[in-house]
Amino acid sequence: MFAGIDIGGTGIKGVITDANAKIITSSETPTPATAQDIDFAIAGLIECMLKRCNIKPNKLRAIGIGAAGSIDNRNGIAIHSPNIPAWKNYPLAEKIRSLTGTPVVLENDATVATAGAWLQENIIKYSNWIMITLGTGIGGGAVIDNRIYTGQSGSSLEVGHITIDINGRECPCGNRGCLERYASATALVETVKKDLKSFPASSLNNRIKYEKLTSRMIYEEALKKDALALRSINEISTYLGFGIVNIVNILNPQAVVFGGGLSQAYKLIFPVVKEVIKKHAMTGMKEKVKLIPLRNQSRTSAMGAAKMAIERINRNSINTK
Ligand SMILES: [Zn+2]
Repeated sequence: MFAGIDIGGTGIKGVITDANAKIITSSETPTPATAQDIDFAIAGLIECMLKRCNIKPNKLRAIGIGAAGSIDNRNGIAIHSPNIPAWKNYPLAEKIRSLTGTPVVLENDATVATAGAWLQENIIKYSNWIMITLGTGIGGGAVIDNRIYTGQSGSSLEVGHITIDINGRECPCGNRGCLERYASATALVETVKKDLKSFPASSLNNRIKYEKLTSRMIYEEALKKDALALRSINEISTYLGFGIVNIVNILNPQAVVFGGGLSQAYKLIFPVVKEVIKKHAMTGMKEKVKLIPLRNQSRTSAMGAAKMAIERINRNSINTK
């Protein structure tokens, strides 16, 4: 048995799986504020799931954990996380190991999302593909020649921080003109805010009197053909397309898989992205690239975390003593 844990800013999701990453049970709990409370919440969640299925703790062979931010996956350290400010060079793997007595694999959230997506039947067949997660920010992962690429220490494919305008908008990463400042759910909301006054007839002007402006609301109004909502989704999709052109030109992937909340707007986003790829990516690389929306996203990352733990056990590259 294996456990997979996906730590988000607001909630921790967990699964118990068999050796093929098939889910036996799942559960979730809110993310506490302090590092120590997060450790206890993870250990408690795993204990609870094992009890529910009558599995003895010593049957658990490894725990995979996915967390946002900079990760040292060799040493199991959360170096820095935008979602969990309490972690500063925090030895998360060691802490969870000492609480549970089980070896722990720590990976970047985009890596576990990629591993989870790869279990889906319409994606499993690809050996070279990239994953883009469209949410508050933009993340990415890659499978290269049938292996998940994790870079030298576990952080790679920071797609959200591809520079698309050297004089562009400031980014919290310290750079300017990063893709996620133009093509994330956050950027979509900012794009609409900037133009609300120029579109007085937009239904969004009315809705924001009663509700907070969100990317979901913009998507809903775009489906009803609201001009401002449609124009804004087109704008962010165009920027996203250019970001993807850069990756296609470097990695020549078979497919680009889209996850994250904003990927639910794929019916509006994909046609624009496809057009940009067609016009701007290199001949010989762009023709066969498939764009695929990720399905059933809620447990994908937790499953992927379990999958990463299974692989490390199979490769014997985890300390099980
Ligand atoms: Zn940046």
